[in-house]
Amino acid sequence: MDRPLSERWRSGAALLVSLLVLGAIILWAPADGPAGLRRVLGIGEDRLGDPADVPPGGTYAFLEHQPGDLGAPVAWDPCDEIHYEINPDGAPDDADDTEEFVADAIEVVAHYTGLEFVYDGRTDRRPQWDRTFVPSIGRHEPVLISWATEDEVPQLDDDVAGVGGAVAVEVDPGGWLRYVTGGVTLDSEAFEEMDNILGEDDEGRAILLHELGHLVGLDHVDSPDELMFADNIGKREFGTGDLNGLVRLGEGRCA
Ligand SMILES: [Zn+2]
Repeated sequence: MDRPLSERWRSGAALLVSLLVLGAIILWAPADGPAGLRRVLGIGEDRLGDPADVPPGGTYAFLEHQPGDLGAPVAWDPCDEIHYEINPDGAPDDADDTEEFVADAIEVVAHYTGLEFVYDGRTDRRPQWDRTFVPSIGRHEPVLISWATEDEVPQLDDDVAGVGGAVAVEVDPGGWLRYVTGGVTLDSEAFEEMDNILGEDDEGRAILLHELGHLVGLDHVDSPDELMFADNIGKREFGTGDLNGLVRLGEGRCA
C-alpha cells in the first residue's frame, strides 16, 4: 500500500494573521472589567503560572517575532486564561475519550509554558482557516480544537494530519503583539486510520502536541530530535529544544 497517511505529517502555520488594532488596550478595559482596568494601569499584574525548569539544549523557532525585535516572540498573555472549546464531530473516539485526549495534551503544554488553559465546553463551531477576520474588541472567540476532512479544510490535503496556529493583535501603540485566539484542526481521516491500524501508539497525541506547539507560537525546526520537526518520524514527546521554546513562549509580557 501507499505510505500510510499517519506515517508522516506536515502542518501549516496557516492561521498567522497579524492584525493592527491601534489603541485597542484602552477599548478593552471596560469589557475586561476591573482586572482589565488594572492591567491598563499596570498594577496588580500576576502571572497565572510559571514556565517549567527544563534542561538547556536543542533547537526551536518561533512563528512570529515582535516587530523590530527578533529575540522576542509573539506569545499569549501569561496573566490571562486561554479559553478553548472542542467540536468533537469527526473525532475517532467517543466523546468522553475525545475530551480526555485533548485535555491530556493541553496539560503538557500548560505545564511547560505556565500558561493557563480553561475548557469552555463543546461547540458546534467549525474551523475556518481561510477566513480573514478581525477579532472583536474586548472579547475573542475561544481557541477551537476540531476535526475535519480536507474537503472542508483544504490545508489538510495529502499527508497533512493537522493544522495549528494563532491570531495576534497589537495591544498598544508601541506595536507589541500578543495572541488572542487560534485553533487546532486534526485530520479526521488520518485519525481514523491511526485508530484502526496503530491503536494505542500515541501518534494522535503526538500530532495534537505538535499542533498545540504551533498554537502557542512554535514554528517548525530542521532537527528530527524535536517534535516541531515538520514530519512525523516516530517521535512522540516534545524534544529538549521544543521544551525550551515552550518556556520562552510562557515568558511573554502581561498585556
Ligand atoms: Zn507543524
